[in-house]
Amino acid sequence: MRRKLIVGNWKMHGSKADIAELLTSLQQHLQGVSRAEIAVCPPYPYLLWVQDYLPDGIGLGAQNVCVETQGAFTGEVAASMLRDCDCRYVIVGHSERRQLYGESDELIARKTRQLLEHDLIPIVCVGETLTAREANQTLVVIGAQLDAVFAQVGTDQLARCVIAYEPVWAIGTGRTATPEQAQEVHAYIRGKIRSHCGSIAEDMQLLYGGSVKANNAATLFSQSDIDGGLIGGASLNAEEFAAICRAAE
Ligand code: PEP
Repeated sequence: MRRKLIVGNWKMHGSKADIAELLTSLQQHLQGVSRAEIAVCPPYPYLLWVQDYLPDGIGLGAQNVCVETQGAFTGEVAASMLRDCDCRYVIVGHSERRQLYGESDELIARKTRQLLEHDLIPIVCVGETLTAREANQTLVVIGAQLDAVFAQVGTDQLARCVIAYEPVWAIGTGRTATPEQAQEVHAYIRGKIRSHCGSIAEDMQLLYGGSVKANNAATLFSQSDIDGGLIGGASLNAEEFAAICRAAE
């Protein structure tokens, strides 16, 4: 039985004061939520500090990683450093990184390998643009994004990844995939992993992301191949985020 996982992606939002308030509020609102796994991904500079104040049982994650191990890469952060900061999860391949920073399928797959080599859990984001969906290319795009990962990581390593399906047209837009649309893609992802690597597919957590809110979370999470969510905007509001975590129970 796969456990539900809810991950908050705080993106580049907040100040130290805002985050302190959010953490206090999370402490209060997440009380009694125990069956779902929960993690938050703050901006880099706050990682160590957030780790000290996170409510018990909430995991820490980062939003990106450098593909290189160490060296003269000004402004970059290595997987070993994220490990040192007690991160458990790291998001890679978010559509904002793909679109705004030109990250390719191959680069994202290499970052995934780098994280696995440092005992971190990659949350690998895949998803199609609206143009691709309207051209009936959704599964082709996602298939290519997954193939790039398969080319870089072996079966044992893949088993430790989380995959997040995030349709680009649903991120931050208020437009959510219907539960049926999301389930169709999740079933495709699980099926593709199964054909490539066999039964590990049944144990892997596949998350949905894209305008998940308290009022749509339960129906999305009740789909058979949706094992939780990657939550952007709504993760900055403790009450809303806690309600989403409850919907996963
Ligand atoms: C995200 O950025 O990963 C995301 C899903 O954002 P939102 O929930 O705001 O659509």
